[in-house]
Amino acid sequence: MRYVGDIYRPPSEANSLIVQATIGCSYNKCTFCDMYKDKRFRQRPVEDILDDLRMARSYYPYVERIFLADGDALIMKTERIIEILDTIKDFYPECKRIALYASPQSVRLKTDEELKTLKEHGLYIAYLGLESGNEEILELVNKGETAQEIIKAGQRIRKSGILSSVTVISGLGGTQRWQQHAIDTAKALNAMNPDYIGLLTLMVREGTPMYEQVDSGVIELLSPFQIAEETRLLLEHMDSPGSVFRMNHASNYLSLRGVLNDDKAAMIARLDAAIEGKTHFKCEEYRLL
Ligand code: SF4
Repeated sequence: MRYVGDIYRPPSEANSLIVQATIGCSYNKCTFCDMYKDKRFRQRPVEDILDDLRMARSYYPYVERIFLADGDALIMKTERIIEILDTIKDFYPECKRIALYASPQSVRLKTDEELKTLKEHGLYIAYLGLESGNEEILELVNKGETAQEIIKAGQRIRKSGILSSVTVISGLGGTQRWQQHAIDTAKALNAMNPDYIGLLTLMVREGTPMYEQVDSGVIELLSPFQIAEETRLLLEHMDSPGSVFRMNHASNYLSLRGVLNDDKAAMIARLDAAIEGKTHFKCEEYRLL
């Protein structure tokens, strides 16, 4: 496969064939993120993407999942995405799910009809970053979108029939805003009622604007115990029946998985055990992005 720079994908796409449809992130300004800082955002020519799909077919006899990287592949014109989806169907008839990252902006640029058409052509799941449901925190991290806009995008993805997976970052508001982060994020998730909710835990990378925010005390990082308390508060406020809740990212201090609302009490009990020191948190050196 031909890749430009480092490649990122959600934890649940670990076994997917990754094909770069775009390079970099169409926004690229969040203070905590350095994933695509070295890449100038561009869309790859469709012919190159189709060539990669053709090439990969000769190496992989069975491909069940395909992830279209990098950030925000949904930003491409609907006709181009359809061409890619149809080619995948031709080359990989065994493929059961095609996934990509979406953003509020790329969803806004699509009509409801277009989203439905993408679903009909095989787009299975879209990953959307909420990060926080709190407006002050979204501004602080320069997300470039309001919680309301992100909620609207999540709702429109769900309405189209494409599965939605929404990402949140634990600890994003620091010690100063952890309660509002937990409560407002729960409210935003409840309003979206996504198929999947994924919690990452904030890791501050040197060279990012957030590194300076932490250095200057604008954001004071939470300890693993405080992260568990924040997650507990978020779960207490969750009311999103059917959403699969997962904390399975390398950045998390604890792993957690359950289906809301049924498994809420069991997940809170597991967090309580960690807060009371009955289970161990992952060591700092084993946390990775
Ligand atoms: S968090 Fe997402 S939207 Fe923000 S800069 Fe990183 S890839 Fe782009």
